Amino acid sequence: MTSLILVLSATFPDAHAAAPAGRALPVDTGGQEVATDLVLDSVDWPAATTELTTRLAELLRIPSVNPPGDEALAVAWLDQWLSGEGIATEVIPLSEGRSSLIARLPGSGAEKPLCLLSHVDVVPAEAERWTVPAFSGEIKDGYLWGRGALDMKGMTALEAMTMVQLKRLAVPLRREVILLAVADEEVDSKGVESIVSMWERVGCSHVVNEGGYGLDGLFFEGQTFHAISVAEKGAVWMRMIASGQPGHGSTPVAGRAPEHLSNALAKLAQRKDVVHWSPALMESFRRVGKEHGGVSGAILGSPLLVKLLVRGRLMANPATHAALTNTVNVTGFFGGKAPNVVPSEVGAVLDCRILPGATVEALLAELTALVDDPSIRFEVTSQTNANGSPWDDPFFQALAARAVEGQEHAVAGPVVSVGYTDSQALRPLGVHAYGYVPFVIDPKLLGTTHGDDERVPVSELAPGLRRLMGAVLDVSLAEGGGRPGPREAGRPR
Ligand SMILES: [Zn+2]
Repeated sequence: MTSLILVLSATFPDAHAAAPAGRALPVDTGGQEVATDLVLDSVDWPAATTELTTRLAELLRIPSVNPPGDEALAVAWLDQWLSGEGIATEVIPLSEGRSSLIARLPGSGAEKPLCLLSHVDVVPAEAERWTVPAFSGEIKDGYLWGRGALDMKGMTALEAMTMVQLKRLAVPLRREVILLAVADEEVDSKGVESIVSMWERVGCSHVVNEGGYGLDGLFFEGQTFHAISVAEKGAVWMRMIASGQPGHGSTPVAGRAPEHLSNALAKLAQRKDVVHWSPALMESFRRVGKEHGGVSGAILGSPLLVKLLVRGRLMANPATHAALTNTVNVTGFFGGKAPNVVPSEVGAVLDCRILPGATVEALLAELTALVDDPSIRFEVTSQTNANGSPWDDPFFQALAARAVEGQEHAVAGPVVSVGYTDSQALRPLGVHAYGYVPFVIDPKLLGTTHGDDERVPVSELAPGLRRLMGAVLDVSLAEGGGRPGPREAGRPR
């Protein structure tokens, strides 16, 4: 098991095992017979690759940094590109200099729309720490560099290019395909909220958004694991406040607020982890183990052996620890006005992340019991709900099948993201949302998102487009266009 590096999977309440391969995708009866592969093979791939690379470089040069956002420039650029192709677009204003874009390809209406979601804002970049200027869109050493290359303008470009190709090829669709390029994901999710407020005009059943990637050597060297996020942890931000009698700093008296806070923090540090194993986690282990084979593969295929033999390794890794437990992280302190004044209140800021199925109430009850001090109270300042989508779903299966297509040692499986995305706002509307940016990358590159030197391998742009387009076509082509079911890895293309 020495090459088992990292696992990023967990649980959600209504998880089911994957449906058997070979199940027919739903199709309507009135459309034109076009097969996904036929459409993919009609794409002029060299030209599409050049165009995609150029377009993404242009988008990376637009500094839509949030705060303040300035997404309107990126939205105008996208609007110009797509409307120039004859695709219906609509700019949704948010505030001064900020907007989102909706673009639509009509379908027969036999099924509810499919949404290709992305956010066009990016986090700030510390210019002096970058190898190339962060908003240069430069190609160097085989990578296209720029803030947003992975998170997530690269995906925006793939989604827009998918729309463009479907339009140019006049592909008959059994459902509307809608591109949603939204503002403000990185700060307040106001962009997706404005889309939710006009949901009767979108009404999609499925969404693909950011989440996982294809990760080289994540579990085993030489094996690519395509992590498709089916759920996200909820973020619960709170203040842990200690109170007591104020007084003069010159005269220590027991039981003052800072002492209560310090004792409470010591207890939090002793908090015991409770591991939440789940069907989703075990499903990805099983898939990875089956593909890898051997003793390690057999261990991963057995939930009992995973719990017995791999638990320690998983809990020692911060990423897997976060994926398997409800976490409580102290991220700041407040209170106290002067060195010589004992304040009546001091406190700590806690960033807690809970797994699907966990509740804020249960977390508060746990922390209250752990701290066991009436001088301490918890105030929740903000929360997002943990939620998930099933993976026995035609779109999940299409994403998974297309992810591994043509690769010798590749496997796709369901994971839970420890961070939150705009998908969380859509699942309560009944939408099945999946997080998958279809680039195969070295897991080390994940650290460049929100960090320095964010970049995407140029060689992954065309395969990424093929994976995304393939999955979109698999669930959207008109009558006769759907292929019979999930395809195994290793098929030549
Ligand atoms: Zn993002």
